[in-house]
Amino acid sequence: MAIGLHQQMAMMVLELRLSGATSREAIRQTAAAAGNRDKRVISHAWAKHGRDALVELRLGRAASGKQWTSQELSRLEEAVFPQGGVVYTCPECGVRKFAENCDATCPACGWHPPLCLSEGPIDEQH
Ligand SMILES: [Zn+2]
Repeated sequence: MAIGLHQQMAMMVLELRLSGATSREAIRQTAAAAGNRDKRVISHAWAKHGRDALVELRLGRAASGKQWTSQELSRLEEAVFPQGGVVYTCPECGVRKFAENCDATCPACGWHPPLCLSEGPIDEQH
């Protein structure tokens, strides 16, 4: 898997944000790790490649069997991608899952949604 420098920067921002860093901290740390790059370069890389980074990270975790924690999912929903369409919260029990699973029966409570409430699946182009 060959990914470019900007994709790597976006991945680092994503991982930092999942571990609890604010957007500002994540961009600052990524800029420092990339050889004191201009933070605007990191912001731009994140804006352009953030969703792709999530796709890559999901693929990597699926391959390695590493589970997403409920804390990570809530960070994705509330802080990292607040515009929505990434994580879906079961209205019945509050369990979070990735949005493309929003029309499936909830694995936690068994509630079956009448229709998909999200803005649609994330754009998987790989
Ligand atoms: Zn549920």
